[in-house]
Amino acid sequence: MTTIAQILVAAGAGARFKGDKPKQYANLAGKSVLRRSLDNLKEAFPTTRAFVIVHADGDPYLAEQISGFDGTIITVPGGKTRTQSVRAGMATLEDLAPDLVFIHDAARPFVAAKVAEELLSTLQNVQAVAPILPVIDAVKQFDETLGDDLQRGKMRRIQTPQGFRYNDIWPIFQSLEADAQFADDIAVAKFAGLSIGTVDGDEKTFKITYPEDLEKAIRMLGKKNYIATGTGFDVHRTEPGDSLWLCGIEIAAGFSLKGHSDADVGLHALTDAIYGALAEGDIGDHFPPADPKWKGVESHVFLSHAKSLVKKRGGTLQHIDITLICEQPKIKPHRENMRRRVSEILGLSENRVSIKATTTEMLGFTGRGEGIAAQATATVSMPAYD
Ligand code: MG
Repeated sequence: MTTIAQILVAAGAGARFKGDKPKQYANLAGKSVLRRSLDNLKEAFPTTRAFVIVHADGDPYLAEQISGFDGTIITVPGGKTRTQSVRAGMATLEDLAPDLVFIHDAARPFVAAKVAEELLSTLQNVQAVAPILPVIDAVKQFDETLGDDLQRGKMRRIQTPQGFRYNDIWPIFQSLEADAQFADDIAVAKFAGLSIGTVDGDEKTFKITYPEDLEKAIRMLGKKNYIATGTGFDVHRTEPGDSLWLCGIEIAAGFSLKGHSDADVGLHALTDAIYGALAEGDIGDHFPPADPKWKGVESHVFLSHAKSLVKKRGGTLQHIDITLICEQPKIKPHRENMRRRVSEILGLSENRVSIKATTTEMLGFTGRGEGIAAQATATVSMPAYD
């Protein structure tokens, strides 16, 4: 029986992807892109004997992502260029000496079984094969301005996996100059004069390059954005003074609230609600009260930070609701100003900013005027990839 090995190229840094991890480790609906590529490659080529993963040197993510995989995995650090990385991968196969080797970009998580079948059958007649797709859009030269039309009918896009007869391709890789650089692996075969075949590729086998590509991949898996709700609660003690801060405005209440910052109990509860929706701890984690840096700071700084975390995670704040619990001051006369101020800090329509008040019927510490309490809810829509 024909022996097959797969080389997954996962050594790239993915500069265009802008994620906090290399794109091959981005979370694609519960599995990393790399693990989906690996699992799908195995499904498309069920008789594969070994999977070689060419990774970045010192890669801290790989081990976790391949654990539990049912198949033989060989890992090897790649080189500076794709060509060097693939050579490092092929070198690990000398003992196995497979009949066929396929080279696949780890950032293409969807491998079509039909393409795999056609690649295998085509390799019975040629030494190297690649999946190709037509160019749909008009293509032009470009050098600061549009130049000549290129004949798109004569052009093809090239995908992976690209397949080779190992005994043909491995000596060629070995004979390349150390710094040789090719756009892909079929280019190496072409350079060396091997016979080359093509099969129809599949649009589903697109390469995850930009963040939008990951969103598209998640949609293909039927995953949807989700709604997260967080709650916050805070209390500040009253103290003698002239005025206090509540929900971003100063109120001449005839007393103050005690606190390390401006003691805006409403904004503190709201800030915690947003951290809660993100499962990002609480205000004390982000702004430790022991740190003198935050002494006397205006609380909109905390709220703006929580909002910036929503954006960083790719989410959108949808709605907030604050309840202030006190006998004094009366909130109603200030309520619209509060809503306007909070809506301004959050960049959220006033229709999505609810502020209400209640008392505790003269009971407890709020009833006795010893402190003011606030509770808040924040609703955030989060991307499916979060
Ligand atoms: Mg507080």
